[in-house]
Amino acid sequence: MRCSALPLATKCRGSYKLTQGYGSEQSRLGIAFHEAARAKVLKQSIDKDSLRARYGLTDEELRSIDYGIYNITIQIPEGAMVLADDKKMSGLGEKLNGTPDFGIYHKETVTVVDWKSGWGDVEDPETNNQVIGYGILMVEELEKTGKIVKKIHLVIVMPRLNQVKAFVFTRDQLMARAKDIERIIDEAEKGAEEFTTGPWCQQCFKSMNCPAFAGQVKTLAAFIEPQDLADPQAIEKALRTLLPFAKSVKTVSDKIQNLAKVWVDKNGPLELGGGQTFAKVIENKQEVNAKKAFETMKEYFSEDSIWEIMGVSMTKVSALAVATKRGLSTVVKNRMKETGALTETVGVSYRMIKGKGGSENGEGSEG
Ligand code: SF4
Repeated sequence: MRCSALPLATKCRGSYKLTQGYGSEQSRLGIAFHEAARAKVLKQSIDKDSLRARYGLTDEELRSIDYGIYNITIQIPEGAMVLADDKKMSGLGEKLNGTPDFGIYHKETVTVVDWKSGWGDVEDPETNNQVIGYGILMVEELEKTGKIVKKIHLVIVMPRLNQVKAFVFTRDQLMARAKDIERIIDEAEKGAEEFTTGPWCQQCFKSMNCPAFAGQVKTLAAFIEPQDLADPQAIEKALRTLLPFAKSVKTVSDKIQNLAKVWVDKNGPLELGGGQTFAKVIENKQEVNAKKAFETMKEYFSEDSIWEIMGVSMTKVSALAVATKRGLSTVVKNRMKETGALTETVGVSYRMIKGKGGSENGEGSEG
């Protein structure tokens, strides 16, 4: 298994067979970014025309690479051995393979650098099995040539977020993780049916073939849009099944939103993984004082045109009657009808009605 497939396989064993090694191919823009980043660190010139020609980059993509690598600086100590030759490495008895972005070996310490070209946050190196995997491959590779490795620095560089994450393992600590990684690989290779859905499904590019994820969506879609649209019975069946659902799904959705708001108020932004965060955003809201607005606008516009935009609704009239405690709601409403200030039209609304046929007055109550 490739190191880049490990994070997804760690969360969902079933993803590996389904995606057949998802992560083995980086995107065109990602490969170009990695090449430019390595040249920047090695203080080599970057041949942008060649990059553009080989990866078919647009001006905007080239600018985004420039912007991304601008923040990358890595100090290479005097006399250090640099491992940056795009070498495909293999470890754990050929079970794990991958091409680490960049490595520096110096004084029995290996620094493994993984740079990310995207905007999304990634898991810390302490638990990120992709970089831990690169660390294992580097250690095995160096030891094959008789080098002694005592410490491993795992560094994830996220230039677009202007952020670097790092963690230091001793050799023994890192190799202890190798057992867990071997287990994940073994289970993933066997566990074709073990699908675990979660936020990581967004990164699973074969998700529409996944029985756990896409299966639910497809079943729902078959109800929403019955195969045979000419068949009224199919549509009726879909509606019978889905309409009771629609209300409950909304209720559950509202509850989740409310709980999330309370949580965020108390604890701050909530990281959802996959680069998503649920957060409280403070915005300026504007309220208009109708009376003062009317007086101010008279300085600029005719009264007629102003009246057209000053809204009056029966809800506001009833609220006024309640606020004055004069019980005038019905009286004012009837008088407004007499004067033509209020006309009634037939409105149509869609809502759940309790009981067979709804209540006698025809006004449904939401259930
Ligand atoms: S869509 Fe989700 S559940 Fe399905 S294979 Fe991918 S990660 Fe696993």
